[in-house]
Amino acid sequence: MEKAFSHQDHERNLYTLWDSSGVFQPNYKSKKEPFSVLLPPPNANASLHAGHAMYVIEDILIRWKRMMGHPTVWIPGTDHAGYESQYVYEKHLAKQGKSRFDFDRETLYNDIYAFVKNNSGLIEEQLKMLGFSLDWSRKTFMLDDHVVQTVYDTFTKMVKDGLVYRDHYIVNYCPKCGTTFADLEVSHLERKDPLYYMKYGQFTVATVRPETKFRDVALAVHPKDKRYSDWIGKTIEVVGVLGPVSMFIVADEEVDPEFGTGIMKVTPAHDAHDFALGRRYNLPVTPIINTRGKMDFSWYINDPASQQKNPTYLERARKYHGRSVKEVRAMVVEDMKTDGIIEKIDENYVHNVTVCYKSNHDIEPLVLPNWFVKMKPLAEPAIKAVKEKRVKFVPERFEKHYKSFGVFAFPCGIALKKTQKSR
Ligand SMILES: [Zn+2]
Repeated sequence: MEKAFSHQDHERNLYTLWDSSGVFQPNYKSKKEPFSVLLPPPNANASLHAGHAMYVIEDILIRWKRMMGHPTVWIPGTDHAGYESQYVYEKHLAKQGKSRFDFDRETLYNDIYAFVKNNSGLIEEQLKMLGFSLDWSRKTFMLDDHVVQTVYDTFTKMVKDGLVYRDHYIVNYCPKCGTTFADLEVSHLERKDPLYYMKYGQFTVATVRPETKFRDVALAVHPKDKRYSDWIGKTIEVVGVLGPVSMFIVADEEVDPEFGTGIMKVTPAHDAHDFALGRRYNLPVTPIINTRGKMDFSWYINDPASQQKNPTYLERARKYHGRSVKEVRAMVVEDMKTDGIIEKIDENYVHNVTVCYKSNHDIEPLVLPNWFVKMKPLAEPAIKAVKEKRVKFVPERFEKHYKSFGVFAFPCGIALKKTQKSR
């Protein structure tokens, strides 16, 4: 007999023996109440980490119920993790000096698919090495045909039931990752940025985003702000970096009279509040930033009226066109200084910025066609089930989160957000 126990020599054989004997499959002969747990599928874009040790709790529950004679099953699986996997894969590509744009869509999809399938195999091995009593005859990958078909069927049903609809609406878009995020998925950072005070005709407007000024469709003030009450409903002429423009002045309760000068510019295409305000007053949505985070001035360059204007204006539009938001911001500020439009710059303005939780890139609010889920009719019965104690939360404090965020905000998502903020 060996002096020391060598786990490498025994554990694998022991696990194979357990698995092949069928003891991890439910005992259908038992008359007791069935007990099942669905393993929260780990993301198949990396190996398991220490956090996955929480599966031990599920294993203990499963083994306990099994020994008590209940028909018991613990179902294993791995998740494709969509955009998260793409992000990890892109890091691999970057190491080889490549990007996702070096491939056509189908090749990229197949390569990422192979990557996650390979990782799924590694994860399966890890779960087995941890001795988890999972029923492998039921293992599922979240892109298996039957799962994909269920997703299609559910989507179709939800469209028919009026729970899913498509709309042009302002969304959180990350130009770096090329994807849209729900409000709950984005991170918020406190950051110091210059606050520019720009002359708008006889008024002064404060903004951190002077580059969007070319697509302002109105100015807005608070209805009770006495400084501007005479101007509500009137149109003023404004001298801009690309020539004179007319601005209509609206009054809206949402305007904060304490911010800046109390008069704000309205850009429905690139700000969520402005978009909502624009819908209330039927203002046009006129985009200037594209999904790659570049500024598009073709609307100005190609407009015959622009040809009639001062050649400097056209030259400026051509200079800005196709550049990144940050580049254009710096250029516009310089041009505004030249024109004497900048009144002052507050270099120490601290504000909240919405960023991508993966890449930290600034989120661009863009108006895009997107699918939306009507949450209210779905959340109501789910919340009712919790109130009536038909569903219980462990630990109990997550019940509060569940009720405030709706059905799809799982506690694990909340825990994840906390770690991202502390990063
Ligand atoms: Zn991103």
